[in-house]
Amino acid sequence: MFEVLPQLAPDPILGLSAAYKQDSNPSKIDLGVGVYKDEQGNTPILSAVAKAQQVLLERETSKTYITPQGVQGFIDGMLQLILGAQSPVLLADRVAAVQAPGGCGSLRILSELLTRVNADTKVWVSDPTWANHIPLIGNAGLTIETYPYFDKASASIRFDAMMECLRQVKKGDVVLLHGCCHNPTGADLTKAQWQEVMNVAKEREFLPFVDIAYQGFGDSLEDDAYGVRLLCENLPEVIIAASCSKNFGLYRERVGLAAIVCADSNTRKIAQGQIQSVARGIYSMPPSYGGALVDIILSDDALKQEWVNEVDEMRVRMRTLRELLVNKLAEYGAQKDFSFVNDQKGMFSFLCITPEQVQKMRNEHSVYFVDSSRVNVAGISLANVDTLAKAMVKVIN
Ligand code: PMP
Repeated sequence: MFEVLPQLAPDPILGLSAAYKQDSNPSKIDLGVGVYKDEQGNTPILSAVAKAQQVLLERETSKTYITPQGVQGFIDGMLQLILGAQSPVLLADRVAAVQAPGGCGSLRILSELLTRVNADTKVWVSDPTWANHIPLIGNAGLTIETYPYFDKASASIRFDAMMECLRQVKKGDVVLLHGCCHNPTGADLTKAQWQEVMNVAKEREFLPFVDIAYQGFGDSLEDDAYGVRLLCENLPEVIIAASCSKNFGLYRERVGLAAIVCADSNTRKIAQGQIQSVARGIYSMPPSYGGALVDIILSDDALKQEWVNEVDEMRVRMRTLRELLVNKLAEYGAQKDFSFVNDQKGMFSFLCITPEQVQKMRNEHSVYFVDSSRVNVAGISLANVDTLAKAMVKVIN
């Protein structure tokens, strides 16, 4: 039967990883796949997570099914982390939420919920956006449109063009916003810009859909939630897809949260039943393990503090690497000013070089990253930054 289907090209990022593995150059550098890495290039289990695993090993007495919404302590802890413990929407009982298999699972079930509301819904995504947004949202049957976001030539957000586009968005349309640490550009809205986005959402009555996958990797756990909190505190409805893959380092455990801020508590009950029924029709219920670990961490003051310190450490390391790269590029005589890299946030940076230059980096210097010029900042290290900067200077000057 399946021969009728076309052979698909391999995923560009996974193809890049495979090419990197095969490269025999001892100085090769991998800045492709978006996972955090330490100075040694490892993606370790966070110590707070390792301790929570021990607790869970002793605490868990059964593998019977969990409830359809997932681990309730996880949901409560995550909502407080994202929205703030004193969030008015939480106090007003306006938030429906389920644990989901990763940020991807959250994005998908929320998209399916939107098709139940209206199959003709348009979702506006930033140009550019994370490539997987397109199938996650589009395969649910929604129509995708783009709004201008980033200008490679000036390495900055096209805020005026973005706002001009958002002012045309129709009531009932959905606008996908990256809560922080925009993937792929690393360029985030300022607080004043979030305010303007909130105002236009209110005026046009579109629904903001916030994808927050890197909370804590930008400025701080609190500051990174500024935008999503502003929207939730000022608009009747917001939907949120959160991921614990990066900030808890739980990638393979598939831990995420899908939340729907509703206009009132009665609608919350409808939304809660509907989102659970969407999940039931796809995977029934989320895996419990990762959510149980996050619950253990967030509900224990000492363990939570240990985790916060680890998130801080990851963020500070990435920030330091940005500065180091920018300084090394200048030191080795780059003709282009790369100081914009220091203003970008989180794990990704757009180096704003051409696809041809990216290919030269790969073919002539064994430095691997995607053609868009997005690099995983965590793949840089004290050990490889000189090689990287020298190669870049050779390619771009
Ligand atoms: N949103 C964005 C913007 C992401 O970059 C990612 C991870 N790459 C996700 C969502 C979802 O990640 P996961 O499903 O691994 O939790």
